[in-house]
Amino acid sequence: MHKQKKEIYNFQSEVKQLLHLMIHSLYSNKEIFLRELISNSSDAIDKLRFESISLPELYENDSDLKIQISVNKAQNTLIISDNGIGMSKKDTIENLGTIAKSGTKAFLKSLEQQKNKKNELIGEFGVGFYSVFMVSDHVSIRTRFAGTQSDEGVLWESSGEGEYKITNIIKKNRGTEITLFLKKEEAEFLETWRIKNIINKYSDHITVPVYMQNYDEKNKTYFWEKINQAKALWTLNKSSITDEEYKTFYKNLTHDQHDPLVWSHNHVEGKQEYISLLYVPQKAAWDIWNRDNKNGLKLYVKRVYIMDNSHEFLPNYLRFIRGLLDSNDLPLNISREILQNNSITEKLKKALVKKSLNMLDRLSVNNVEKYQVFWNEFGLVLKEGPAEDHENIEKIANLLRFTSIKNNNSEQNISLKKYVSNMHEKQEKIYYITADSYLSAKNSPHLEIFKKNNIDVLLLSDRIDEWMMNYLVEFQGKKFQSISKEDISINKLTKEKKINNNEISQDMINFLKKTKTILGNKVKDVRFTNRLTETPCVLLSDSSEMTTQMAKLFSAAGQSIPELKYIFEINPEHLLIKKICFINDEKIFNEWITLLLDQALLSEKGHLDNPHEFISRMNKLLLKK
Ligand code: ADP
Ligand code: MG
Repeated sequence: MHKQKKEIYNFQSEVKQLLHLMIHSLYSNKEIFLRELISNSSDAIDKLRFESISLPELYENDSDLKIQISVNKAQNTLIISDNGIGMSKKDTIENLGTIAKSGTKAFLKSLEQQKNKKNELIGEFGVGFYSVFMVSDHVSIRTRFAGTQSDEGVLWESSGEGEYKITNIIKKNRGTEITLFLKKEEAEFLETWRIKNIINKYSDHITVPVYMQNYDEKNKTYFWEKINQAKALWTLNKSSITDEEYKTFYKNLTHDQHDPLVWSHNHVEGKQEYISLLYVPQKAAWDIWNRDNKNGLKLYVKRVYIMDNSHEFLPNYLRFIRGLLDSNDLPLNISREILQNNSITEKLKKALVKKSLNMLDRLSVNNVEKYQVFWNEFGLVLKEGPAEDHENIEKIANLLRFTSIKNNNSEQNISLKKYVSNMHEKQEKIYYITADSYLSAKNSPHLEIFKKNNIDVLLLSDRIDEWMMNYLVEFQGKKFQSISKEDISINKLTKEKKINNNEISQDMINFLKKTKTILGNKVKDVRFTNRLTETPCVLLSDSSEMTTQMAKLFSAAGQSIPELKYIFEINPEHLLIKKICFINDEKIFNEWITLLLDQALLSEKGHLDNPHEFISRMNKLLLKK
């Protein structure tokens, strides 16, 4: 005999928190609960299809896979059932009593941090099954795992407060049936037109047919009506799909509430056969900077769902791309491990990278405004590209955006193409500077000669920039040149005469000699420069040495680096230098030279090792008549 044993369990505390939120928040878009339930049923059917590849007996002679919806107005109930994989008792406890997904935990955390955006976040995270409690007083689930020899199923019941009940029951058909006892004020969800409308909006293109029970007044009978298209959108002909359908599909796939910026849908035949549907979102996923961020492409093989979030098909620097891949070449029984070491995967990855980069390129040409939205949101991610993907470096470089002296604001909107096309006739190199911030780049003394000669310089101040520039060697045959490094190419472009020591007064030459002696091996060299107009002196890195920004990156990563030695360049035309030149008191002269070096160091590095010493030295000199 079957035991009718009732067991009572407590929800995990995170679930309680989530449920409390669901029930008490004023989320206006409650209809999404139906989207979540349909999506779970569809997932359960996809799982069954997948598992039955190796275990056909899971079908139990019923391969007519479907989701059914019915209502009972007298009892205020809405019933959604599927003949998918179902759940065992253990499954229900694990899946419907706890939150295993790191995503939902993160969701709760971000809720705490941004309370005022609560409603927006509920939509964004797609909080799944628990959303039923937004509209229900009580929920009961009857479920049985597929392929079991007996009819033993489970009944799961809860009012969404602290606990849920589990009872053993008999269930003839495999799969899951969920009954919602709707709150009085949510009776609209009993109306056929309302349900059809929601399914149409969110679930038209899931691959499983959804049927709704209807009553035929004339014949006084019930019948089932199919209410979705049940055709995988990506298998349809591009020309038969509207923009709206693409957008809705995207939102269902990603739970993102914003429209995508652009998409690329391809049916590919020939050596490789696959369909890809790739989207560029408008907003970065909340975990885009997490090392273990979960988003990847949804993978199908010959229309059969295989897995979510496969990371194997796109490199890291394109991790913002969402969408799906349906391959005809991969085997159905593929696992993540096999996927990782597979020549087909490699080829698909290459192809998808090309498709993604082309999609971005098209956007950058066809819709500059949207491209700017993309760049502001994902530029930092794309900047990882040059280091990660040497093969496509020219294409990636073409997608990068910068600000520059001439741009006159911090928005990164200048392409390298544009920079090159505006270069001086005789200019051979693409000049750039890296610094900690836009302002510090923009005001760097290194720029003085460029400003004076009207030569544009790219101003880079994102943390990743220095690292990226290590990999970007040239663009359209023009080499990149950091202007804080020693380089003579600028001399050809300027009206300034080269410094000729013969034309410099003996006093200045003595000044240079004395300075060299005082600074000794604190610097690599001391010399005069014509590069400065406003500033008395500046530090340059030797062309073979690491730049200041690079050194900062290394030390931020905890790596020890040899002390940087700079070339100390002095502007002999500067009034301060002319003044110091005539100081006879050796001690004071000494102090001045040290102060000058510290100034230049401060400007180059943004900080000093011993700022107090610098300040007291400066104060001392200020007090001198
Ligand atoms: P998610 O779908 O993102 O995993 P949900 O909260 O929507 O999160 O669902 C939690 C889990 O409950 C699912 O992962 C699945 O294991 C299980 N589940 C929910 N609905 C069904 C169903 N109709 N059939 C089988 N399992 C289900
Ligand atoms: Mg779900």
